[in-house]
Amino acid sequence: MITIDGRPVPAQGTVLDACRAAGVPVPTLCHDPRLSPGGHCRACLVQMDGAWVAACHTPARDGATVRTDLPELREYRRDLGELMLAESAPAGLAREHVARWGADGARYAHRPRPAVRDHTHAHVRLDLDRCILCRRCVRACEEIQGAFALAVEGRGAATRLAWGGGAFADGTCVACGACLTVCPSEALTSHDTAPHFRDVRVTRTTCGECSVGCAIVVHVTDGPDERVSHVEAAGLDAPNRGHLCARGRFAHHAIEPGERLTQPLVRRNGALEPASWDEAIVAACEGLHSPRGAGAIGSARATGEELYLLQKFARGVLGTNDVDTGSRLSHAPSDVAFREAFGAAAATASFDDLERADVLMVTGADPDAAHPVLAARLRQAALAGATLIVVDPRRTPLAELADVHLAVRPGANVPLLNALACTLLEEDLVDHAFLESHVAGLDVYAPFVRRHTPERWQDVTGVPAATLRRAARLLGRAQRPWFAHGLGVTEHRQGTDTVRLLANLALLTGAVGREGTGVLPLRPEANAQGALDAGAEPGRLPGGARVDDAAARARVLEVWGRPVPEREGRPLDAMLAAARAGELGALLVLGEDVLRSAPDARCAREALESLGGLVVMDSVLTPTATWAHVVLPIADAFERDGTLTSAERRVQRVRRALDPPGDARDGVRVLLDLFAACRWPQSLETPADVLADWARTWPEGAGLSHARLDRGGLAWPVPDAAHEGSPRLAAPAARARLACVDFERSPEMRGTLALLLGQRFEHAAGRAGSADRDGGEWLELHAEDAAERGVDEGDRVRVRSEHGEALVRARLSPRLRRGTAYLSFRDSGRAAGALAGSGRDRETGCPEYKLVAIEIEHADG
Ligand code: SF4
Repeated sequence: MITIDGRPVPAQGTVLDACRAAGVPVPTLCHDPRLSPGGHCRACLVQMDGAWVAACHTPARDGATVRTDLPELREYRRDLGELMLAESAPAGLAREHVARWGADGARYAHRPRPAVRDHTHAHVRLDLDRCILCRRCVRACEEIQGAFALAVEGRGAATRLAWGGGAFADGTCVACGACLTVCPSEALTSHDTAPHFRDVRVTRTTCGECSVGCAIVVHVTDGPDERVSHVEAAGLDAPNRGHLCARGRFAHHAIEPGERLTQPLVRRNGALEPASWDEAIVAACEGLHSPRGAGAIGSARATGEELYLLQKFARGVLGTNDVDTGSRLSHAPSDVAFREAFGAAAATASFDDLERADVLMVTGADPDAAHPVLAARLRQAALAGATLIVVDPRRTPLAELADVHLAVRPGANVPLLNALACTLLEEDLVDHAFLESHVAGLDVYAPFVRRHTPERWQDVTGVPAATLRRAARLLGRAQRPWFAHGLGVTEHRQGTDTVRLLANLALLTGAVGREGTGVLPLRPEANAQGALDAGAEPGRLPGGARVDDAAARARVLEVWGRPVPEREGRPLDAMLAAARAGELGALLVLGEDVLRSAPDARCAREALESLGGLVVMDSVLTPTATWAHVVLPIADAFERDGTLTSAERRVQRVRRALDPPGDARDGVRVLLDLFAACRWPQSLETPADVLADWARTWPEGAGLSHARLDRGGLAWPVPDAAHEGSPRLAAPAARARLACVDFERSPEMRGTLALLLGQRFEHAAGRAGSADRDGGEWLELHAEDAAERGVDEGDRVRVRSEHGEALVRARLSPRLRRGTAYLSFRDSGRAAGALAGSGRDRETGCPEYKLVAIEIEHADG
């Protein structure tokens, strides 16, 4: 025990922890539970056994006696406050402490630091006259985000916060805002935290910007129009551990109130005109009843409840399995390969597992762009000692930190992964016990893969054999390997095969069903997993059962009282093709801008033009909605109730923080109105009712309910109401088969320049308006490729592929390997859409976006 001001408490953690356990307040300025103890500010000095110590980083010692409120400590704190006031003008918590200590700035001559201000950044304002040099922001930047954008430089009176030369906006800050959350003196503030309005309501919900599923708290003000004032991270127990990225923190700025749809629109005499809800719902119902048939397209940003109702409407009212979501194809290869190997189209691992892993392998993914908070966790795990292997043609921010970066040539994933597996077997680095109990087909697979040596494939992959062998040895010697992959794996002609080869690596290393191991597909959209679980796909019912599974259809029939069509439906691009061919007459579109997400924007526009009935439910008038016959305005991210399911299968609540504007309505309400108008009224009233209905059709989600999820997210399977959830999937009962996959060279590998189409950080943060200083689309090029073609930074270049051409500006990038170029899907992906080819993954139709043969020329001369 340790005695704090006469109160005995267990001697656990630091003296500060013991003081807090004893209920004795000790002031802190540089301390934060997420950060390593700093001991910089000295505000927490206490007396322990006669000596003065910093409580925040002194271990609590058994038998010690601590005094926190001695007259000399009070005098010391007042003096500390006086020194702060002599050198700075702190605000916020620091100011409150200083006042409480009795300091008034009268003791010492005022010798303020230079009032350095930097307001260049879109979100972070620096007012260094308030800085008390507690270094909390520096440590948060390093220890939470790993961006190293801030430092302390100088000595004595010249000591100051620094960010390299030039404007802060031009530094390495990624606008995550971690520094804003820890600064105690308001030296770092955001425009969001400017206290124009008083908060009237705070609501805990889930970020809907990507599939990490960060827990957030939304603050709503009482200004002239109720609006979101700012967003902060919720709880250290959530997947984001109190952290957020730029999108999560600032995306609420993205849509101006004037852009929102506030009343239903019905097309009359060729123009969309305001209508009442009754008129619009009747018109929608009539429009969807086409003699040529109708289908439904949802967005993987919609809630699970909306998507469940959408597919129920398609199957039960429209009588079709033609239902899909815009982004499903991008990870369909993962779904097929994971179902084969692990029995579920979902991650087997959790995010928490990555911190228990000793080797992390990230393939074809740039989490800093698409899943930033996960990137921060990966970076911290690597900095803490985990081995990091990154497979990517680009030197992504994570690759910079990797122990081994396999900069594979675009299109050569298959030989690279085979070569890794070959080395594991050749050098006997496989998990024999796991293989014996859980895997079949090793007798066929082993001789097959032993032919795929790193030496055989080094010229094709562009990775030296020695580097490949080094990566394989790190992987093979791991106790707990953890795998994640992204679109750089799936968006290839052999996308499904490539995921099969990743599954092979997981099986060979026994990385299934154990703590700290597993595989995790990094799906881009917030509810891509939830869309699959809701059955918003043409071949699968809620819970993932096939539509031709008679028992699954019977289960749904029992719940719905209506049969489900037996024949597999058409995916999104086939629905659009059918519409163009006059074989599909109507579409119900929920929150998806089809013109943006379809692989071929021109064909998509012709398809929409051909429809006799296009009903669009959305919160803004998207390009797709401008073609609609009926537009139904629905609630946006912070205005709805329901659930989102993250990339780790965690079902989490989203909650309404404010009302939708004007006459806009909750999407669930609108869908239920459509059911009623189409003569299949539902007895469901609320999103909670909808989840209850959904759970009855989904055995692995049977234990889910809004009431349970209100106490915290749950990773499925949750088979009953008493089940605690499943952060990790067990190895499947059936033996997994190791896949023998031969390399098939894509015709797009023929060119001298291989273009990758993907997401860039500025794009990812685009809805946040964050760090979005570039404008337009940029083609990133290796400096030598550019010089060979007489192209310099900022030049306009004409990019030609076999499929089209585009004019963009060139940017020289050190992230690319020679012979590759990179273009983001920014600006509705016009350039990317023009250049992308018709190559598809044979099994799923996933477009070959990560490899287009191009040539470029200077466009200005
Ligand atoms: Fe939102 Fe994803 Fe950023 Fe988390 S990482 S705050 S879920 S965008």
